[in-house]
Amino acid sequence: MVDLHSHTTASDGTYEPHQSIRRAKEKGLRALAITDHDTVAGIKEALEASERYGVEVVPGIEISTVDQGQDIHVLGYYINYQDPLFLSRLESLRNVRDKRNEMIIENLQHLGIDITLEEVSSRRKMDEGNIGRPHIAEVLMGKGIVSSMEEAFREYLGKTGKAYANPPRITPEDAVDWIKEAGGVPVLAHPGLYGDDNLVHRLIGYGIEGIEAYHTDHSPEQESRYSLWAKQHGLIETAGSDFHGERNGVIFHGDLGTRRTSYETVEKLKSKAEKRAEG
Ligand SMILES: [Zn+2]
Ligand SMILES: [Zn+2]
Repeated sequence: MVDLHSHTTASDGTYEPHQSIRRAKEKGLRALAITDHDTVAGIKEALEASERYGVEVVPGIEISTVDQGQDIHVLGYYINYQDPLFLSRLESLRNVRDKRNEMIIENLQHLGIDITLEEVSSRRKMDEGNIGRPHIAEVLMGKGIVSSMEEAFREYLGKTGKAYANPPRITPEDAVDWIKEAGGVPVLAHPGLYGDDNLVHRLIGYGIEGIEAYHTDHSPEQESRYSLWAKQHGLIETAGSDFHGERNGVIFHGDLGTRRTSYETVEKLKSKAEKRAEG
């Protein structure tokens, strides 16, 4: 079995890439995709660990985009993660990400919470790694302002939270183009979390090539709906736990392998990427 969605310390996961691969081995997975937010910095280390643990690594990315004020995530598989244009595009996304962190921290300060960008940045675990909202949540938990990741998002950091901010970013369509131009296969991440099925149809029309039908935060009803749509449109159905490691002993989203699919899905993604490479 394979799990096609996981985060490492290269973004807001708490497991180093090699630790994720080791855990994938323990969970009996044949392959694991590394899909960090807006960075490919974890892939090299994961590939090195791949041989050691006998777990195949699917190189991936999860690109943050915005549509009508809402965060939309687009997964990309088998991207050429050394492509200079792709890397410079990711760099520009990370600048927006930094801007967003600054805005949220400012909002928290206005709410009377004593928190600084330096405190949040010190939670970064890998040199070229990204920081994101879970790192802000860690600081809030450390100060006793909230008692869990879930509370941090509900009260402050999530879409309806008091300190939420979302500067303009690229559109989901841009992310689809960027992934294809880097030789990869674009897949819509967790469509069930957006509450906007028009968007799903719009992206199918635009040329997205897969749907993450199975995700830790999807209901069984959502999973069967998106699975059906993927089949109807000839798209690749993927499954992912969205593993972020543990914080205070609690796993955010799901553990590795919580959502998984057969190795055949990896073969489909590979063959799409190979056809793209052949032009
Ligand atoms: Zn996501
Ligand atoms: Zn994710």
